[in-house]
Amino acid sequence: MRLSRYFLPVLKENPSEAQIVSHRLMLRAGMIKQQSAGIYSWLPLGFKVLRKIENIVHQEQIRAGHIPMQMPTLQSADLWRESGRYDGYGEEMLRMQDRHGRDMLFSPTAEELFTDVFRAHVNSYKDLPLTLYQIQWKFRDEIRPRFGVMRGREFYMKDGYNFDLTKEDALHAYNRHLVSYLRTYERMGLQAIPMRADSGPIGGDDTHEFLVLAETGESEVFYDREITDLTFGEREIDYNSVEQCQAVLEEFTSRYARTDETHDEALFNEVPEERRCVARGIEVGQIFYFGTKYSEAMGAKVQGPDGKPTEVHMGSHGIGVSRLLGAIIEASHDDNGIIWPEGVTPFHVGIVNLKQGDEAADAACEALYNSFTAVGLEPLYDDRKERAGGKFATMDLIGLPWRITVGPRGLKNGVVELTSRRTGESVEMTPEQAVEKIIEIYAPHRVNVF
Ligand code: ATP
Ligand code: MG
Repeated sequence: MRLSRYFLPVLKENPSEAQIVSHRLMLRAGMIKQQSAGIYSWLPLGFKVLRKIENIVHQEQIRAGHIPMQMPTLQSADLWRESGRYDGYGEEMLRMQDRHGRDMLFSPTAEELFTDVFRAHVNSYKDLPLTLYQIQWKFRDEIRPRFGVMRGREFYMKDGYNFDLTKEDALHAYNRHLVSYLRTYERMGLQAIPMRADSGPIGGDDTHEFLVLAETGESEVFYDREITDLTFGEREIDYNSVEQCQAVLEEFTSRYARTDETHDEALFNEVPEERRCVARGIEVGQIFYFGTKYSEAMGAKVQGPDGKPTEVHMGSHGIGVSRLLGAIIEASHDDNGIIWPEGVTPFHVGIVNLKQGDEAADAACEALYNSFTAVGLEPLYDDRKERAGGKFATMDLIGLPWRITVGPRGLKNGVVELTSRRTGESVEMTPEQAVEKIIEIYAPHRVNVF
C-alpha cells in the first residue's frame, strides 16, 4: 500500500474523550471512529488488524478440530423463551419487533441458536464429538460502554459450542479450548492467564477467564507470580489426546490465579508471600462447561450406544476479538504510539522515503516495495512529499514493528536503514539484506486468510 493512496486519518491532537491509552491511540492512528456510544466504524487500519486477529483465531480453532460457521445476528425471541433466558437476560439484551409484531433480539451470545441447529441435524452419538463456532458481531446494551473497543455495545466475538456424549468428553473439549486459547493469545504477542472465574448468566460449574495483565483492566486479579513464567511456546500437541490436553490444563491452572469474583483470601494466603500478586487484568476470553443445561431445556438429544436418547453435554467458549485490539495496545505501546507484535501488525514493514522525488531514492523504494509484495508481504510505503520528521511520527504512531528508511545519502554507499519499532535500534544494510531480514522475521507469522 502506498500511503498517498491509503485512507489513514491520523489525528494530531489527543482526543479528549479517551481515558485509556489504547482508546487514545486507536483514535489517533485512524483505526476507529465512534458512531454512537459503544458502537464504532472500523476504519481501514483498524479493520486490517481486526482481520489479522480474526484469522489467528480461525487458524487455531480449526487446528483444534473445531468447525467454523455463521449464525444470524438477529434472532427470534422464541428460542430464548425455550431456554428460559428471554426474561432473565435483562437490560443488556437489545429487543425489537419486526413488522408482524414478532419479538426479535440482537444476539448477545448464541447458545440457543447453536443448540437449535444441533437438535435439528444431529441424531446419533456417532456424530459426536462436535464443536461448532462462529466469529460474529454481538450486541450487549452495556450500561457503561467505555474505553473504546474494550467495552463496546457492539463487539466482535468468537463463540464456540461443544456437544459431547458424556461429561468426560465435554471436559476434554473444555481442555482442548484452553490449549487452543493459550496458543491463540501467544501468537498475538500476549500473555493471557487462565483464572478461575464465576459463571454468571451462562450458568455452569467449570469456567476459566483469560486475563491480560494491565493497569487499565476492569477486573481485579490475584495470582501466584510463578504463573507468569509459563508459556505454551512451540510445543506440539495432539488435540485428540485426553492426557496431553489435561496435562496442559493442570500445568496452567494448578497455581493460584483468580478474579475478584472467586477470590479466596485463605487459599491465597497459602501462596508464599513474595509470590502473591494483586493486579488488574483485561478479560480477553472465557471457557465454560455447563453440562446439560441447554440440551435439557431445548431437547437436544442423541441416540446413545445403548439405543436410548440421551441429553448431550455442552460448553461454550468465547474470545473477545475486537477487545483484543485494545488489550494488545495496552500491553504494547510507548509514548510515541502503538508497537504491534509481528503476528497482528496491519502492515509488515514501513518504507520511508526521505527525499520523495529524488530519482535514486524513489527507485530504491519502488524496488523494495516490489520485492515485498512479490513474496506476499505487505509494505506500507510513505511516498508523500512530507518532512522526514512527520513521516517517522506517523510510522511510530501506527506502530509497524519494522521500518526501512531510504535516503540519497545512504544509497550513495549502497545502504538503507532497518529500524526496530520496539527497541529503536537501527542497522545499515543493503536493500537486499533488508528484504531478506524482513522475510526471515515474518516466516513464523504468516497468516493465511481463512
Ligand atoms: P465482561 O465480564 O467483560 O462483561 P463477559 O464475561 O460478560 O465480559 P463473555 O460472555 O464471557 O463476556 O464473552 C466472551 C468475551 O467477549 C469476553 O471474554 C470479552 O473478551 C468479550 N466481551 C464481552 N463483553 C464485551 C464488550 N462489551 N465489549 C467488548 N468485548 C466484550
Ligand atoms: Mg466472561
